[in-house]
Amino acid sequence: MVNPFEYVALRLLPLFRQLHLTKLIFGSTSAYMFMDYFKGFEKVDAVKCLFGDKTEEVLANLKVEFVWFGYMGVDNKDGHLMVNERYLNSGDKTEIYLDVVHELCHVRQWLDGRDLFDPRYEYVDRPTEVEAYRYTVLEAKRLGLSNEQIMDYLRAEWISTQDLKRLIKNMNIDLGPTNF
Ligand SMILES: [Zn+2]
Repeated sequence: MVNPFEYVALRLLPLFRQLHLTKLIFGSTSAYMFMDYFKGFEKVDAVKCLFGDKTEEVLANLKVEFVWFGYMGVDNKDGHLMVNERYLNSGDKTEIYLDVVHELCHVRQWLDGRDLFDPRYEYVDRPTEVEAYRYTVLEAKRLGLSNEQIMDYLRAEWISTQDLKRLIKNMNIDLGPTNF
């Protein structure tokens, strides 16, 4: 359930910028520190694999902004995390954990200077997305989620069955005989 935010942001951000509303809308909430809200991620192997010996430093400097739509995303301008507060409070804890891992992948990509919203690609084909999904699904498998549970996680109202099939194919991970 990661991308609605990214999906929406992809379409709306250029418009917001154009209208000079970015600051008004996204700047209206002040930024908070990731580690004050997401505890213990610096000890998670999947996170440590992303940032190595810089894990604590990266997380200690990561800002989080609470927004009113979508689920989670990473700002392409300064790499901060954006989280829908309502989702954080009411969402499934395992899904939130996996979403954070997914978004921290994007933070790593951003630190590497990659464009998180490369418009040359469709969402499900974009290398940064495929990589983040793949990493997250492997973490889900490590946690012991069944293929069915992983499919439930990946399935969302804003992604078509066709796109989901393509994403799974791009990830190149065996999720068994998937039931679409
Ligand atoms: Zn993503």
